[in-house]
Amino acid sequence: MDTQTKTNDNDINDEDMDDIFGDTEGSYELDNKVSLRVYYDQYFPFDLIYEWLSINSLFGHGEASQIRFFERREFSSRITKMDGTTFVTRNRSFSKLDDIKDYLKGRNPNNNSIDVAERLDIGPIYSCEPIKKSMVTDYTPLYKEIVFDIDINDYNDIRVCCSDTSLCMKCWGFLAVAAKFVEMYMKECFGFEQLLYVFSGRRGLHVWVSDQRALSLSSEARANIIKYVKYERTSVLLPILQRGFDELFLPYFEQHVLEEQDIFGNAAQYKNFLSKLPLEVRVGKKTIIHPLDQIKEKMLEIKDQATSLEKWRAISDYFKQNNLMEYVYDIVFHYTLPRFDDKVTNHIIHLLKSPFCIHPSTGKLCVPIDLKDIDQFNPTKVPLLNSILSTPKVSFNPYRASFKNYIEQMKLKSQQQISINDPTSF
Ligand SMILES: [Zn+2]
Repeated sequence: MDTQTKTNDNDINDEDMDDIFGDTEGSYELDNKVSLRVYYDQYFPFDLIYEWLSINSLFGHGEASQIRFFERREFSSRITKMDGTTFVTRNRSFSKLDDIKDYLKGRNPNNNSIDVAERLDIGPIYSCEPIKKSMVTDYTPLYKEIVFDIDINDYNDIRVCCSDTSLCMKCWGFLAVAAKFVEMYMKECFGFEQLLYVFSGRRGLHVWVSDQRALSLSSEARANIIKYVKYERTSVLLPILQRGFDELFLPYFEQHVLEEQDIFGNAAQYKNFLSKLPLEVRVGKKTIIHPLDQIKEKMLEIKDQATSLEKWRAISDYFKQNNLMEYVYDIVFHYTLPRFDDKVTNHIIHLLKSPFCIHPSTGKLCVPIDLKDIDQFNPTKVPLLNSILSTPKVSFNPYRASFKNYIEQMKLKSQQQISINDPTSF
């Protein structure tokens, strides 16, 4: 394997990183590097990550095919040297779990602060082992989980509880409702069942869809998955958007967004809200109405007597009475529809941080989240690197156990899917 302390052909500079990484900020202090090395040595669940990434091997059944599948997976990491310069190692691949561990810990065990990897990023499966890239003429990405990246800073225009990359339980709700919609969408429209939700450690949520059928989708098909649920003004919704609206988006908007993001109380928020309303609309052959002015008037009338929900209901009733449901959809979807980072999903070569990394800026563990607990998940109470090392029973073991359980379920589902596809295989 190539040295990790020098940039080579496979490595890239800091400036190029934004194109292939979702999140490139932050760097470790010296003390943390020592702790990080201990974390990789004693806790990071290499065995589970291996299972998770290779169970659905497309190279046949059994252990040998799993190993071959895993060997062709690209890994990447980032290292900050003592002089502060950062570089990224790309196109790394491994045959043995111990090799990844050594790679992450760095090659200088006696000088334990120099080249420990700050993160581990996962790329696609290539046509050959990524470490042999320079030895072949055809190096092509073949397979990859479908991934979704949803960052809270893409919601900055509609939230008042936090700004920039900060994330509290209130704005976590935007990501939670996005996750629930992804689950509904992937299961009902595509029949996918193996979805993993991971807190990215600072500002976002990652979703990994690992079903075997998902792995071989083309970039075009991935782009279409996102395009299909982009909302464009219409009075008749796609069935999946209608279900999302009825069961997820409207309830979340009415029960949380209106109050928690102070839509009617905060001047900037109210101005933004009003900007979603049309100035005039033709209804029928000769009638033109002026929704913005009429709604503004109505709001002044009920200003202090009505709750946020009552104000909103008055507005949605106004549109419904005029047969203009599309404007109700406009507003609700503006505040609730997932804001995907499209390029992360569309480009198969894009890298995404591995579950169980420690986020370089926050020191938080990138924890998998059970969808049934996602509303209660508190991103401000996620275990930190130091708490994992001092109290692993509380801060780490439950997350490992939960991930292990997820993988057991995944194995069962994979076996069922293989049985359905190939009745002779079991
Ligand atoms: Zn917040």
